[in-house]
This record gives sequence, structure tokens and C-alpha cells, in this order.
Amino acid sequence: MTQGRIQVVVAGGGTAGWVTACALARQLGPLLDVTLVESEEIGTIGVGEATIPTQATFHALIGLDERDFMSATQATFKLGIAFEGWARPTDRYVHSFGTIGRSPWMAHFLHVWLEGRARGLGSDLGAYCLELRAAEEGRYGDEAVGGTALNHAYHLDSGLYARRLRTLAEGAGVRRIEGRIAHVQRDARSGDVTALTLQDGRCVPGAFFVDCTGFRGLLIEDALGAGFEDWGHCLPTDRAVTVQTEPAGPPRPYTRAIAHEAGWRWQIPLRHRVGNGLVYASEHLGEDEATARLMSMVDAAPLTEPRAIRYRTGRRRSVWSHNCVAIGLSAGFVEPLESTAIHLIQVGVTRLIKYFPFAGTSPALRDRFNALARVEIERVRDFVLLHYKLTERDDSAFWRAHREAVVPDSLAARIALFEEHAHAYQGPEDLFQPDSWVQVMLGQRLAPRGRHGVGAMMSDAQLGQALLGLERRVDAALAKLPRHEDFLARYCPPPIA
Ligand code: FAD
Repeated sequence: MTQGRIQVVVAGGGTAGWVTACALARQLGPLLDVTLVESEEIGTIGVGEATIPTQATFHALIGLDERDFMSATQATFKLGIAFEGWARPTDRYVHSFGTIGRSPWMAHFLHVWLEGRARGLGSDLGAYCLELRAAEEGRYGDEAVGGTALNHAYHLDSGLYARRLRTLAEGAGVRRIEGRIAHVQRDARSGDVTALTLQDGRCVPGAFFVDCTGFRGLLIEDALGAGFEDWGHCLPTDRAVTVQTEPAGPPRPYTRAIAHEAGWRWQIPLRHRVGNGLVYASEHLGEDEATARLMSMVDAAPLTEPRAIRYRTGRRRSVWSHNCVAIGLSAGFVEPLESTAIHLIQVGVTRLIKYFPFAGTSPALRDRFNALARVEIERVRDFVLLHYKLTERDDSAFWRAHREAVVPDSLAARIALFEEHAHAYQGPEDLFQPDSWVQVMLGQRLAPRGRHGVGAMMSDAQLGQALLGLERRVDAALAKLPRHEDFLARYCPPPIA
């Protein structure tokens, strides 16, 4: 590394590029000189509009105020995802972001609830989760929980999000260069990247590079050959068709993920429009049929022409190679079922800040970074795969293949532990908490055979009272919440067009 401020070049200006540039400049600004290169002609992928709750924490890190962000991006609150038709065609369950019940120290609340259900006591598990109930009733607010927000994520307009991040990044000193990268220059001896040559001949030199060029991985793969581990054998969806429609009513505070015979369809409600997409496996459905299917299922007038997107699931074998780190789609992709990609971008750049090579890059640093990135995306893959593996559907070749598929040992062990003993856990690198695993496993009809004895020590009266007390607390909190659309209108009015 050179003396003085380290020259960092971010290649690509999609969500990954601007999130990365913004975070580096806001957190390490006095030490780094950050330049971002992007090509308007190439454009961005233009999807990625549902998130998970970690986004609020990240926004605090980069100094992005919630109201400002939500107004600027036409955002709505997201309290979870409704899965429709996943275990059986007529099933429906919600994976909410809330805490379920109250767990005694010995075991998850699930064990108490299972004991209650075995004795005919208590309600559905969702009755004990405020976020889930609020989602179902279209409510959101902060009155119910003493000024503390419900555990929430967002639905946002990705184009507006990149624009807001760009303003923030440029305000923090990031320099933007418009141009198409034609060549990646490397040092003949070390193999490190030294500069990007643009199509018009301009040269953008740097000491450290971040590849945010999307699926292609212009630096990390085309130039450095870091390698890609393809997960198409276990996550076979590889295409999407998207279309934006008019809002068909007040925005729901949750995403819909509706299964069909060869994949699933999303519905993401924003303030000014609804994002729709049909995800499918090209082995089982053609593009024309997928488009026709999506267009026949949207429930309001289209605002755009349908757009086809191809993708590959898997991970970059080394997200850090030489003096280059890949963040975003260039680092890997798990299909969008649990809306995890923006989160992976945010943890990618947070990790880069923690492990920034101030003393130069070294194998020890790269190995540590790569190992962490690997475990993290593998766990996300397992969680997504869970929804497919635990299906009971046998109405199409697509679902039959999933039921019979062999899953990674890491996931098989989790399924066995839950099925035999009702235990779900969050390991050190796991993104999803036990409540998430529990909701999806039960929602996918995995019924545990055993349970902890914590509930068995309670009499019927004690157990019934405890469950009723928890449910009433949720009822009381729910009654104080305003309608989601009313809360949005006063909390973050969108800017006047
Ligand atoms: P891109 O948006 O592709 O940006 C790449 C950038 O690199 C662009 O600025 C481009 O111009 C630039 N570039 C490329 N080549 C060159 C070149 N030669 N010269 C100069 N510039 C260049 N994520 C979520 O969190 N939630 C979701 O709900 C979600 N839904 C998704 C649905 C689908 C179907 C897909 C495929 C993805 C989804 N994602 C979702 C993922 C999300 O879209 C991406 O993680 C996010 O948009 C970041 O993309 P990116 O910035 O890595 O790549």
C-alpha cells in the first residue's frame, strides 16, 4: 500500500457498488480515497427490493436516517414473508421477523407450546408473535412497544435506493467516474490489479479494488479467475421474469412468495407500485410460458414491460483474491426467496472494513476473510433450501425433484435435530435465528416427534394460563397499532413528484 490515503476503486454502481463506496467513505474516509466506476449504458440488474431486519443496523452505520431513506425510496415496512402453497398447494404460513412467545432459559418457547398443543391448550404458534399478527392485520407502528420499533425490514425501490446512496457517498467524498471498463491491468510480478482501463482509454489506478460488477465478476473472475462453485444442482431456479404494476390497495407489511409448479412468484408492495416476479427453473418452464403465467397472475395494471433475468446460484470460491474483494452478485448469489442478497452486501463491506488491509494483503488475511464469507453464504443457502426440501408437493417434476434431493450434511443435521427433538439453533455464523428456523420448519409441516420436558413440569392450569397470558399481551399490543398505510403517511411522506 502507498503512503498517505489508500486509493480504493469500486468497480460497479449497483446496490453493491454504492453500498460499498458509501460505507468505506463514511467509516474510513480520512484513510481512504474512494473512486467508483460505473456504466449507465450497461445499467444495473434493477431488482432487489425486499430486505431483512439487519438493514436498519447497517443504515445506522452509514448515517442514513430511516425516515429520510423510506421517503426517498418509496419504501414500506416488511414484517415477514407469507409462503403460499409451499408444503402443499393450499397451505399458507408466515415467516415473521418477530420473537415468538417468551422462552424459559432451558428451552425455546416452542417446547412449552408443543406441550400445550399435546394437551389441547393454546392457539396457533403465530398468536404469540406480535410482528406476525401485525403483518396479517396490515398494521405497523411504534406505540405498542413503548416507542421501540417492531422488528422490521423494508420493501424499497432499488433504483431510488442506489440514487440515495450515491448522494450520501458523494457527500462523503466518493468520486464517481462514468465509463465502461474495457481492461483490467495487473502487475506482471505479483498479479495484483493495478488499474482499470476504460473504453475511451482513461485509466483508473488503485491500490485496492472492490468488484461490484454483478454476475460477471469482471475483476474477480474474468481477470483473476477466482473460481465459482455452482449450486444449480441443489437450487435449480435460474430465471426470473419481472414486471411492475399499479398498487392494488394499501401496501401489505409483508412480502408474498407464492409457489407454482416450477418455482414461485413474489409480490413486493411499495408506496407507488408493486414489484412482481416469477422465479422458475428453465429445465421445467420456458420463458414465454413463464411470462404469460406472470402476466395472467398480476392483480393490477402493468406499469412496465415484462423483463427476463437469468442468474446462477453459487458462490465465488475466493471472494478475496490478490488485492481485490468481490461484493454483491460478483461474490455469489442464493436465489431471492428470503431476500438475503442486500444483507450479504452489507456484511461483506462491514467485514472488509474490519479486515481492511492497512498493512498490505496477505494469505492469512485473505484466508480468514474467505472462510467467513463461505460459511455465511452456505448457511443462507441451507435456509433457502429448507423450503424446497421440506415440501410435500408431488404435483410436478420440479417439486418431486426437490423432495427427493440430497441436501448438504449441514442442513440434513438441522432437519434431523428438529424432527427428533424440536431443537432449532443459531450457530456463530448463522444469519437466521431459531425463531426463523422454527417458523419455516413448522410451516413446511415438519412435525417434531420429541420435545424438552420444561412444559411437562407444568400443570394444565399453569400451562393454559401462561399461554393465555402471552397471547393477551400480544392482543393488547396489536390493538394499539395503527394501519400500516396510516403510519407510513405520517412517518415518511414520499417526496412530491
Ligand atoms: P448489478 O446491479 O448488476 O450492478 C453491476 C454494476 O456494475 C452496474 O452499475 C454496472 O453498470 C456495472 N458494470 C458492469 N460491467 C461494467 C463494465 N464493464 N464497466 C463499467 N461498469 C460495469 N436481493 C435482495 O436483497 N432482495 C431481493 O428481493 C432480491 N431479489 C432479487 C431477484 C432476482 C431475480 C435477482 C436476480 C436478484 C435479486 N436480489 C435481491 C439480489 C439483488 O438484486 C442484488 O444483490 C443487488 O441488486 C446488487 O447487485 P449488484 O450491485 O451486485 O449488481
